[in-house]
Amino acid sequence: MTDTSSDTATRDQFTFSDPTKLYARIDTEEQYQSGPGLDRDMQERADLGEQTYRGSGRLVGRKALITGGDSGIGGATAIAFAREGADVAISYLPEEEPDAQRIAALIHDAGRTAVCLPGDITDPAFCRDLVQQAATQLDGLDILVNNAGKQQNRPSLEEISDEQLDETLRTNISAMFWITKAALKHLPAGATIVNTTSIQAYSPSPTLLDYAATKGAINNFTKGLAASLAPKGIRVNAVAPGPIWTPLQTAGGQPPEELPSVGEGTGLGRWGQPAELAPAFVFLASPESSYVVGETLNVNGGMTSP
Ligand code: NAD
Ligand code: MG
Repeated sequence: MTDTSSDTATRDQFTFSDPTKLYARIDTEEQYQSGPGLDRDMQERADLGEQTYRGSGRLVGRKALITGGDSGIGGATAIAFAREGADVAISYLPEEEPDAQRIAALIHDAGRTAVCLPGDITDPAFCRDLVQQAATQLDGLDILVNNAGKQQNRPSLEEISDEQLDETLRTNISAMFWITKAALKHLPAGATIVNTTSIQAYSPSPTLLDYAATKGAINNFTKGLAASLAPKGIRVNAVAPGPIWTPLQTAGGQPPEELPSVGEGTGLGRWGQPAELAPAFVFLASPESSYVVGETLNVNGGMTSP
């Protein structure tokens, strides 16, 4: 069956579709939210695969911690992991509780355990506690998705405050070190780590200098950590999204007036949706990718990447 209508009532992620026509109904209009932004308050809700993601037993019995699992790419990944059979802990900021509760309910609907762990990952002590809480409440841990991120556009280097620089570095890269370091004692051979990087690692925007630098660092960290942990049977990989319609983008990730046109720079000519990212995380988390190590899987609608 060919689907060009993007009718989520009848399609799932396996439905044969023209990717230029998918999501034609989602209007990525100008809007702005302060703070991290809520999925709930987006004028045009992102598609997290709520109606479409169909599991097929690829993560049965697994125990996953997903940072930023309340919304966007992490939220879509949480839904997919649960439908593939995993119990899932999600981390997020306290002000994102409504989004987190919605994702937790979807995890429960899939028949899996959901663990909600609010807190600020710019605090290394919280990062350690987060991992301990996840491992205790899930009774183990064998998937870590380092996905939380901060992105604030600024017209020039001079306009990036010391505070913003520090927060971006801590959220996007330092927390990845703190959380992964704390997770190692829980992860058995066979466990998988998936880090969220970005097209910005290769094609930095002049307006995202601090953010793009962290994404370059994440790619580098992923490759080095992969080499370090492969002999222990722990695989580390990354997913590099292109422009994806999420709260981060509507909360200062892009200038609001540019939101309607950002997706036009891709080969497919549109924004991606979080639901289109989740299968990449499932693949890298599951044993089917057993010989894939230190890879960055680009999911960017056809932007040029190495
Ligand atoms: P999102 O806003 O849905 O998710 C980001 C999450 O990060 C938030 O939900 C929040 O819970 C978490 N977070 C931020 N600061 C935090 C803090 N101090 N403590 C705890 N949690 C914190 O947006 P998204 O686009 O799905 O972002 C997920 C990842 O994808 C990020 O790493 C982002 O850089 C990356 N990414 C996004 C795009 C895109 O176009 N949306 C493109 C490339 C990469
Ligand atoms: Mg969020």
